[in-house]
Amino acid sequence: MKRIDESKLRSIVGDENVKSDPADLYIYGSDSSVHSALPWVVVRPDTSEQVQEIVRYANRDLIPVISRGGGSGMCGQVVPVQGGIIMDMKRMNRILEINMPDVYCRVEPGVVDDDLNLALKPYGVFYPPTPASSRIATIGGEIGNNASGVRSVKYGATRDAVLGMKVVLPTGELATLGAHTKVEASGYQLQKLMVGSEGTLGIVVEATLKFVPIPEFRCLGVANFDTLRDAGEAVAEIMASGTEPSMLELVDSVAIKAVNKTMNLGLKEVAAALIFEADGKVKEAVDYEINKMQNICKKHKGMDIKSSYDPTERAKLFMGRKKLFPALSKYDDNLASTSLADDMAVPYSKMADTAAKIHETAEKHNIIMTAYGHCGSGCMHTKILMDTNRRDQWESARKAVAEIYEYVRSIKGTTSAEHGIGLSKAESFKQEKKDSLQILQAVKKALDPNNILNPGKLMQAPDDWVTATDLRYSVNS
Ligand SMILES: Cc1cc2nc3c(=O)[nH]c(=O)nc-3n(C[C@H](O)[C@H](O)[C@H](O)COP(=O)(O)OP(=O)(O)OC[C@H]3O[C@@H](n4cnc5c(N)ncnc54)[C@H](O)[C@@H]3O)c2cc1C
Repeated sequence: MKRIDESKLRSIVGDENVKSDPADLYIYGSDSSVHSALPWVVVRPDTSEQVQEIVRYANRDLIPVISRGGGSGMCGQVVPVQGGIIMDMKRMNRILEINMPDVYCRVEPGVVDDDLNLALKPYGVFYPPTPASSRIATIGGEIGNNASGVRSVKYGATRDAVLGMKVVLPTGELATLGAHTKVEASGYQLQKLMVGSEGTLGIVVEATLKFVPIPEFRCLGVANFDTLRDAGEAVAEIMASGTEPSMLELVDSVAIKAVNKTMNLGLKEVAAALIFEADGKVKEAVDYEINKMQNICKKHKGMDIKSSYDPTERAKLFMGRKKLFPALSKYDDNLASTSLADDMAVPYSKMADTAAKIHETAEKHNIIMTAYGHCGSGCMHTKILMDTNRRDQWESARKAVAEIYEYVRSIKGTTSAEHGIGLSKAESFKQEKKDSLQILQAVKKALDPNNILNPGKLMQAPDDWVTATDLRYSVNS
């Protein structure tokens, strides 16, 4: 292990904000992915000046720096594969400005998404890219991953909401990127480049974000389907018909079974269900959108169709989807839910085929996979439920993942819709981006010539994630 000058770090952030005992290093060694690796030290800065000083020191001594928010990333983005400093950004959690006339807010990167929305609520506005992990996800981490959520189908992902930012570059300099206006045409849009860069190009210390009014009316509906194909075709028609859902989610039979089993919801165990929502200022307009979606569902053999404006009823209808992630981890006591090939996006017309391909591949390799997601954004999530102690199950998962990614690329889909690349998805990412890899590498080299910011991720990550990185599970041989 390289020597770290802990006293230098302590002099910058104070003794209590430098952690290096084994228990802390262990905790900070993983995120919500399957990967794990120990950092050398954890620092918790409180100001951008402290971030600058730490980065200057790291750049001089060639020490990796991994910025970390809530650590809820699913692909190993904050796992320090080359050791180094974990920079925990959660102390920088101030909301600096809510500017109503100019429709933006300025926040520090450690602000948790739910806290931002709580602060915006009294102004009658909300920040829409909100992922399902909004109770722990920070704005810095959402920028790092270009996170999105159930309402992104109408309101866009993080990249659409970021107007500007202050960022500490790998040299320790502070750069102001973007603007405070809705439009900006000047030169390269560097603030957008930072979004989705997974902490490899700079450390965001302040973000300027736009928000939107909370709609007067929201109506949520559900439709069941006997086949995934029917549900997929309904999605494709809804999106091609000019309908404007504010949410369009798909859940498959495995997902429905999981929430029934763990939460006793008593949902009908069909092959698939769609959850759709419309929102707006005028009730008649919302009715119009909801009716259109219901009619399209009916046309594609949707059953048990219902909808409601009532917030309690809406919460009930959405409950299964909301609690899906924890439910999957309890689906079977012997199986863990792993985030592998978990977040592709595919063209709408291929939604049904992709879901079928996921199920076929799982069966072929004797693992359980589910298909669900923000299908209105083209997003197709999966989880692999497997016995993580068994080496052969990892091998099956590796083969299944490779086959699914190959299929997704063949239909012009993409490796990651919103969870990012990190370590787990590097192989497919590199294949998908093979024509632009040199450009990506040149950008990284230009901004971070010493390769100190989150090294070994994205295009630098190894192809074979099973053998080339440590897993957070103990695997029997
Ligand atoms: C139950 C569950 C549900 C989820 N649902 C969704 C979902 O619906 N949509 C979705 O998009 N994702 C989802 N995720 C994945 C993840 O929660 C999000 O992508 C989230 O935005 C990550 O935020 P975080 O603060 O935890 O980031 P972290 O995991 O800490 O970091 C993510 C990336 O951002 C970088 N980063 C962190 N802070 C900074 C900074 N200040 N400057 C530069 N880079 C930085 C890190 O280096 C890393 O590369 C889910 C995860 C879980 C566990």
